[in-house]
Amino acid sequence: MPSHPPSVDRVARSIADVAIPHPLLVDAARAAIAAGASDPVADARRRADEVRRLLLRAVVNGTGVLLHTNLGRAPLAVTQPATYTNLEFDLASGHRGSRRAHAGTLLARACGADAALVVNNGAAAVLLLLAALARGRGVAVSRGELVEIGGGFRVPDVMAESGARLVEVGTTNRTRPADFERAVADPGLDVALVLRVHRSNYRITGFTEDASIAAVAAVGPPVAVDLGSGLLDAACPWLADGPPPWLRDEPAARQTLEAGAALVTFSGDKLLGGPQAGVIAGRADLVDACGRHPLYRALRPGGLVLRALQDVALAYLDRDGAALPFWRMATTPLEDLRTRAAALGVGTVVECASVTGGGTLPGVEIPSVGVALDGDRTTALRSHDPPVIARVADGRTIIDLRTVDPAEDAVVASAVEGVTAMPPER
Ligand SMILES: *Cc1c(COP(=O)(O)O)cnc(C)c1O
Repeated sequence: MPSHPPSVDRVARSIADVAIPHPLLVDAARAAIAAGASDPVADARRRADEVRRLLLRAVVNGTGVLLHTNLGRAPLAVTQPATYTNLEFDLASGHRGSRRAHAGTLLARACGADAALVVNNGAAAVLLLLAALARGRGVAVSRGELVEIGGGFRVPDVMAESGARLVEVGTTNRTRPADFERAVADPGLDVALVLRVHRSNYRITGFTEDASIAAVAAVGPPVAVDLGSGLLDAACPWLADGPPPWLRDEPAARQTLEAGAALVTFSGDKLLGGPQAGVIAGRADLVDACGRHPLYRALRPGGLVLRALQDVALAYLDRDGAALPFWRMATTPLEDLRTRAAALGVGTVVECASVTGGGTLPGVEIPSVGVALDGDRTTALRSHDPPVIARVADGRTIIDLRTVDPAEDAVVASAVEGVTAMPPER
């Protein structure tokens, strides 16, 4: 150890080749010196490299989880020049327009709704519709649908935050239209709205009964259905071969509205395959009430998201599922994946199973193909640049090619080559 600690400034300047801003280099230098590192420059460089590596960045998703919440759910290309837009400007009249006119209108058209409103995420959509349509009043929910979706979205908690009052009906496993009728008939409960919640990542099986949307809609108050996943149309007209078998009976926006729901809500970045957003679609008067509520101002997305979502809506209206990375990956034929896996020339080609993830379609597997490596290589693959995220099964590391863009195959090959030169981690 030198008698005088090296100067923070000198250490920071000697790692200036690490591509992060100077104040962050100074932090790394200060931390290295404070830690009493024997080689402060090397230690500061390691710290600065780590800061650079942890920045928000592209990763290769080899997990086979198509909507991986930790990896940003649906992948989407977004490029936008630094220009002004007609975000809230009506080009026809030259007067103030509405940011609701673009993506919202197109999404409504794509799912057969009268109108749609875009907010920041699915949770915001539910919160806003409850606040706008039922604050201070009752909202009837089946006891079988008082679920937690993950990441803290709990139906009773969202209800409490909205200022609406939860009116529980039915039982955990069976809820009938008569249960809703009894609640609605009770003036003390003042039921303004019925909320149905898609259980998403949770299943109730066995002695069960659920009231149909049509039967609940016949009870009286408007029915809002939190679909979660954002499947626009069960017929999947954007896919040349129609709905894939793994979609099974996932509820879709168009059919739910046709069955009598007044509103549906869903996320932008689940099965819709778009950016993080939430959508409220359905009856124009109710959608307008949501758009006029003061909370909308706090929950509305900016032009970047609305532009990306508009492109997604246009792709649906063009019936061009191939333009949406989620649908392109989800429907890639096994044969294509096999050819790509063999062409990588690394690891062992294996059959595996992808899942949609993101709380959608629990227990549903999509047959897939990947490459397997002996042992757990996930840490080394993560430290590759760009990081490759893989999973471990039965003592092997699997990289599932369904969630890898073909343009990333070369990255996977070089990452695997690099790690197979080292011994396994465990
Ligand atoms: C995912 C989900 C949500 C939450 O949506 P976010 O976009 O994650 O906020 C709410 N309800 C249901 C039924 C869901 O599946």
